[in-house]
Formats: sequence, structure tokens, C-alpha cells
Amino acid sequence: MPDFRLYNTLTRHIEPFAPADGTTVRMYTCGPTVYNPAHLGNFRTFLFEDLMRRTLALRGWRVHQVMNLTDVDDKIIKRAHEQGKSIVEVTGPVIAAFHADRVFLRIQAAEAYPRATDFIPQMIALVQRLIDRGVAYQAEDGSVYFAISKFPSYGRLSRLDTREIKSGARVIQDDYSKENAQDFALWKAAKQEDEAAGAAWDSPWGRGRPGWHLECSAMAMDLLGETLDLHCGAVDLIFPHHEDEIAQSEAATGKTFSHVWCHGAFLLTEGAKMAKRVGNVSTVQGLREERISSAAIRHFVFNTHYRKELNLSDEALEASRQAVRRIGDFADRLGSETTLTLGGTPELARAADVAVELAEAALFDDLNAPEALAALFDFIRAANAELDRRGGDRSAVERARAALTRIDSVLDIVPGREAPDDGLVAWVEERLAARKAARQARNFADADRIRAELVGRGVVIEDSSAGTTWKVV
Ligand code: AMP
Ligand code: ZN
Repeated sequence: MPDFRLYNTLTRHIEPFAPADGTTVRMYTCGPTVYNPAHLGNFRTFLFEDLMRRTLALRGWRVHQVMNLTDVDDKIIKRAHEQGKSIVEVTGPVIAAFHADRVFLRIQAAEAYPRATDFIPQMIALVQRLIDRGVAYQAEDGSVYFAISKFPSYGRLSRLDTREIKSGARVIQDDYSKENAQDFALWKAAKQEDEAAGAAWDSPWGRGRPGWHLECSAMAMDLLGETLDLHCGAVDLIFPHHEDEIAQSEAATGKTFSHVWCHGAFLLTEGAKMAKRVGNVSTVQGLREERISSAAIRHFVFNTHYRKELNLSDEALEASRQAVRRIGDFADRLGSETTLTLGGTPELARAADVAVELAEAALFDDLNAPEALAALFDFIRAANAELDRRGGDRSAVERARAALTRIDSVLDIVPGREAPDDGLVAWVEERLAARKAARQARNFADADRIRAELVGRGVVIEDSSAGTTWKVV
């Protein structure tokens, strides 16, 4: 079996990786906070995780991925309060939009999308366990905090200098800086605002709600067990979110929470992190309206290694648009009946094998998608030249098709496979028949008019000796 290696944030090294049970990778990925539609920066991270799950599957493992939906937190309650709504009213439409964007971007569905509000009893049980073990306490403000001084390895993931730890000082916000490493809130005493937004529950410590970090620990351990194979997110989650997840989980169980931690780098706009609070966000919906395909977006994201920062620009998107057009033309050529009839050469078959070997080696080496893409484009160049030679061997063409399918099972960047709806198919077929009749009657003006009509609806046709084919662009 080929090596498989991942960069582990815990050790700061690229290390061999395999699931503990040898067959199924139990993977937790921190999902969106659903108060606002996710932006392309968030989706860069979700695409990195899609690349991860598809690469793990290519390697032959089963994947059990859990992605939580944070549907109760400080930001959601603030939004609900501003709009005079309950948190459910705020989060419902955002969750629907998240899935629509996810499907558009061809991000495979995780095995579970738990919502934090469905796991309140598990969260309360986890807090109780931490209190029983003496690492959590209820403070005068009614909230329950984690005592970081009672957990000696606190700060291991983020390499926090232990001298920075301020024993006994407390922080109630979910987001805070390393400079403020303090006892953090597990369970927050309910305020009037929380009650009004439907974000308060009964607990042994009075009415309250979970802290963000606690949500992930409780859902991950409930759905995947106390030790995960892999935990992912973007780099901004290393501290405090993931540091606090480790502290809560390991202090409760005494076991390793996750063997490996992987973090994706940011998407930037003009050099600054794309973020809602900076106001420099691009949404998936916006890109769709600009008619940028999911294939082009995937190419743009995967053309930079996930651990490198990536700058969004019109030029980069345009380059990706052209790159996937090239891939699409190649897929069409390989897929056509004519190509199969003309056949390939032994060199074509060899190029296909080399492409698969190089792409797999790249992906299995810490998800090196840019190198896999380079292997794919080398293949396209070589294969097009070989196909021009019409070598006569059908099996060589089939081998080339299989190679493209295998590489694309991870990258999923062949454009235009969004199946046209049945109504469109029927209309196109009717128009093509009419055009054929017009041409046979040598009525070329009518034939040209029908072609223009088709183009007007995004349908491009191509005539060859084998007949007329069409595609939606
Ligand atoms: P949030 O909805 O804020 O909880 O974020 C969801 C995911 O997107 C988290 O893993 C974040 O770390 C990640 N994220 C936020 N902004 C960016 C960005 N500009 N680039 C990449 N990932 C991001
Ligand atoms: Zn999380």
C-alpha cells in the first residue's frame, strides 16, 4: 500500500497517517457558525476538507466525517437580538443556504451535520464530568469555567508559552487571543437576551447555554467516540478553539482526543483575511451570479497547497476558468464515440498510468493538489498528441478515460456535468431535429437561426461525420 502522509499541527511535522482501526477514518471538521451565509473563505476550508475526505477514500479507507453546525453562540444571539428573532429563525435559512452552496461547489456530504442545539444534554453531561474531576468550577457570575491551571498540557497544540497562563483570570467570550489565555467558559449563565432568543436551557447550574468550544467536544465524542483519527479546521481555530476542545475532552476522558490535527490556510482578498467583520467577503452566490463554475472555483482553490495562503483575484479566477475549459474539452474528446473508434497508442496507455501514479503520490503526500493538477495537465498534453495519431487501440482510450475518472474522483473539476434538466433536453433535441431537417432541405438560413437560438440558451453544438453533439456551457 502506498504511503500516506499528513502535516500534523500537534507535532509540526509531516507524518505517516492511517486510521486507528485500519479501515475507517473518523474525522471531525468544525462547521459554519450559521448567522450569515458562509463566504468563500469559509468554503476554502470546507473544500480543503472535501479534498481530504476524497483523498482518504482514494487511498482505500472509509470516511466517517462529522461537520457540526454551530447554531447557538455569541454572534447568533447578537444577530437574533438585533432582528428581534429567535436563534432558530436566524439559523434555519442560513443552514439551507449553506447546503445549497455546498452542493453547488460539489462538496460531498459529510456523514452527519449535527446542530449544537440538539446536543445540549451531552454538553451538560460533559461539563458535569469536568466538575466531578475538579477541572471546572462555577464562578460568582453563575457561569462554569474550565481551570486551565489544572490541565498541565494546556497550550500544547498552539505552543502557548505556559508562563503566559494567568491562573484564575477568566474570559467569557468565545474568541480571545493567546495573550489572554485564561479560564474559559464551558457553560454561560443565561442573560435576558439569551432567554428572549430561545437560547437558554435548564442545567444543574441554572439557566444557561453552552460555550462554543464545548459544543464541538460534546458532539465529536458523542458521534465519533472519545478518540478521533483526524480533526480539521482553518488555522484561526488552533487557538483558542481547538486548544480548548483538547483541554475539555482530554481532561474528561484521560484519553487522546484526536491523533492528528490538520489546519488549512486562509483565503485572502488583496492581502487581508477574508472575513465578515472586515467586510471584504465574496459569497458563493455572488460568484454564481458572475457565472463562475464550481469547477473553476475548485481549480482555483486546489491549485494552491492547502497550507499556503491564497489570494482571490479576477485574474486567478479567469486562469482557472480557462484551465477547466481545457479539462472539459479533453474529457469530451476522450468520452466521444469517435475517439474510441479511432483508438489510441501504447504511449497513450502509458501516459494514463503515469498520470494516475503521479497524481496519487502527490495527493497522498499531504494533499498536494497543485502537483496532482500538474500531473493532470501533463497527461492532457501528452494524451492529446497521442490521440492525434489515431493509434487504433480502444483499450488505450479506455485506460485514459479511467485515469481521468480516477484523478477527478478527488479533484472533481471537469466542468459542465451539472445535468441539464429534462425540459431543456427535450427542447434541445426538438430544435436539433428541426435544424437537421432545415439543412437537409438546404435551408441554411433557418439552420443558422436555430443554432443561434440554442446558443442563446447556452447550448453549443458540434457537427462531425459521426453526427451532432451538444453541451451546455
Ligand atoms: P465560522 O463560520 O466563522 O465558524 O468559520 C467556519 C470555518 O471557516 C472555520 O474553520 C474558520 O476557521 C474558516 N474560515 C474563516 N475565515 C476564513 C478564511 N478567510 N479563509 C479560510 N478559512 C476561513
Ligand atoms: Zn469546532
